[in-house]
Formats: sequence, structure tokens, C-alpha cells
Amino acid sequence: MRPDLLQSLAARVAERERAGLLRRARTLEAAHGVRVTLEGRELLNFCSNDYLGLAQHPRIAKAIQAAANECGVGATAAHLVCGHRREHARLEEALCEWTGREAAILFSSGWLANLGTMQALLDRDGVCVQDKLNHASLLDAARLAGAALKRYPHNDVEAAGRQLAGVVGRPALLATDGVFSMDGDVAPLRELAGLCGRDGATLMVDDAHGLGVIGPHGAGSVNEAGLRQHEAPVLMATLGKALGCTGAFVAGSAALVAGLTQFARTFMYTTAMPPALAAAACEAVRIARGEDWRREKLRALIARFRAGAAQIGLPLGDSTTAIQPIVLADPARTVAASRALEAAGVLVTAIRPPTVPAGSARLRVTLSAAHEERDVDRLLGALLRVATPSRLAATRGPPLEKEG
Ligand SMILES: *Cc1c(COP(=O)(O)O)cnc(C)c1O
Repeated sequence: MRPDLLQSLAARVAERERAGLLRRARTLEAAHGVRVTLEGRELLNFCSNDYLGLAQHPRIAKAIQAAANECGVGATAAHLVCGHRREHARLEEALCEWTGREAAILFSSGWLANLGTMQALLDRDGVCVQDKLNHASLLDAARLAGAALKRYPHNDVEAAGRQLAGVVGRPALLATDGVFSMDGDVAPLRELAGLCGRDGATLMVDDAHGLGVIGPHGAGSVNEAGLRQHEAPVLMATLGKALGCTGAFVAGSAALVAGLTQFARTFMYTTAMPPALAAAACEAVRIARGEDWRREKLRALIARFRAGAAQIGLPLGDSTTAIQPIVLADPARTVAASRALEAAGVLVTAIRPPTVPAGSARLRVTLSAAHEERDVDRLLGALLRVATPSRLAATRGPPLEKEG
């Protein structure tokens, strides 16, 4: 008898539920900046990626409305057919000017950008060397491209060098997150670029969490590290995090963009993003680039959070960015802490394996320029009650069952 696919899928769901790792999308009834309504209760949100507080910015909302009034909703076709509009062209221009690259190409999401880029650059002869903590889309992209995937321990430049040395003579792409999505630390980009330069490998940086947040005028981790186009030739970032929109782009040389235009299948065979969205993202770039006060405010909130968290003995990581994980290790304990925080009016989702490595379940706290000092203090107060080492020791053994 042939095994039934839907039955085995259901069995895997049940297995995940037994392991306490089942996920559910929860429906927010409303969101007003960092205040969201969930099951009728207002919560202070500390888990969005809206680092600069732009997702509901009135000028960006106005830009999408005005563009939609003028050109409607759908792009009606892929870019190479007749979907490429003036709004897309302007956004590409704004993005390469901001990041200091010659050219840029838009994708509908970061996932698609990574998939299309690796698939265009790599084939079965190719090798893709990656940090173990890279975003899932980079790992999947290398696998789907059919390249040999080699993963080095987090931020270990020497190990990356050894992996490259093991595949001399083969084309190699070294890919890393600029700012790591679950840890918030920054990759050693100068060292990685040096390694690639000496070795003849190509460096690709996924700056989903760096663009807008770090670097001069928010130009991202690659510019923070002072890497020019030939040193970090493939720069990918998304419009869905600090820019508060959705979509993504790859920036680099005109030759890179020409190649992706011809060979990135996730660019060629998909409907272009709505032009009105491109207009909104263009306005978001203008604000993100021009308003340094948002980054300064964010930095001050990060410092306040870290100082307060250290004072109450929370296990903090090395991050100086908006992503401030509190690793509690055990998934059940992390879920219990997240529920207790929610009962105290603070929303911080529990991040569990396989999103993060086994044994490193965490509360992924994210800060935003839309938070105020008193919001951070309220978060710290709630964490003091639920997630300090002494409180956690008290919840050892069976996970907290009660909600709240
Ligand atoms: C979010 C994210 C992506 C995917 O981007 P989407 O636009 O959400 O598909 C890719 N890489 C990293 C590092 C991310 O954090």
C-alpha cells in the first residue's frame, strides 16, 4: 500500500504537538504603533520587526493610498512582461543610492530574493559556505540551487576559511546574515570580506535586520563595516523589517543585476510587487535615511533595556541591535514565560526549535523607535517577575500549565 501523504503530515503535526513545539498564528484585532489588541486585551508589543516605527507612518500610508488611487492595485504581470512601473524604477534607484551600490533589483519577498539569487549564481559545481545561524531562506536557497552546502560555527571566520580551503578550484559563495535574525549580533563582515578577497569567493550579505537600523544614515551593516561594492558584491535586504513595508531587493554591480534579471527565476516568473507598495517603500526609504533621530532613540532604548536587564540578572546575548534575545533554553519554560508576560500585558513570542538550535529556545525581545522609555521599563518590570534566574528556577520541572 502507498503511504498517504496527508496522513503522514498529520502524524508530524501530532508529533510536534507532543513535543510542545506546535505553532499557531494568533489574530491581532488591532495595532496602533506598539500597542496591539489580542483577545480583547491591549498589549505592549515587543516582538515586531518594525524597528524604526515606520509600519504605520502617516506619510507612508498616504504614499500607498495616493499611488493606489493613481495606478490601482496589481502590477498585472511580471517585471519582464509589463509589470515594471515607474514606481519600481524609482524605488530601485533610491535603494542603490542609499546602499552605495550601482544597481538594485526588486523581489516580492526576502525569501524569494535569496532563492532567486543563489539559484542564479550557483549550480551543482558550486559551493555555498554559510554561518550555521543564517536565516532559513539562505539555507534553503543553497539547497534548492543544488550547490554543496557547508555550514561553519557561528561567526567563526577561521572555520569558514577552512571550508573554502577544502573546495579549492570550485566557485564559492560565502553567505551570512549581516545582523543575525534570532541573536541580533553583527557578523564579522570585514574579516569575512577579507577572506573572500584572498580566496576568490563571493560574499553575500543578507541585511534584513541591519538596513535602516545600523550604518551611516541607516545604510546597513555592510556600510557600517565600510565595505564597498567589490568587497561585499551581493547585498540583499528586505523592505519588511525596519522599512515597515514588504518586499526585498538585491543590490550590487550592474553586471550582478543584469545576471539576476536574466536568471533569477523568482524574479522572472512572478508578478511584480504592487506599484503602490513600491511608492510606499520609496517614502519609507526617504524617512529611514533622513531621520537619524529614530536610530538614536532606538539606541538609547536598547542601552536602557540592556542596563536594566543586566541589573536583574537576565541572560543577555552580545547584541547591540534592536534584537535582544533572552535565551531560556527549555522550550516549555520559554512558552510559560511568554504566557506570563502576556498576562502582565507584554507581548514577546517564544522562539523554539527548529527556528533556533535545540536547547536555545528564547524570548526574542525586539525594540523599536516607536517605544518610549516607560515601555521599556514596563517590559523590564514584567521580566523581573517572570524570567529572572530565581523565578525560572521556581518553574523547573513540569512547565507552567496555567495561562497567567
Ligand atoms: C525576514 C528575513 C528574510 C525573509 O524576508 P521576507 O521578506 O520576510 O520573506 C530573509 N532573511 C532574513 C535574515 C530575515 O530576517
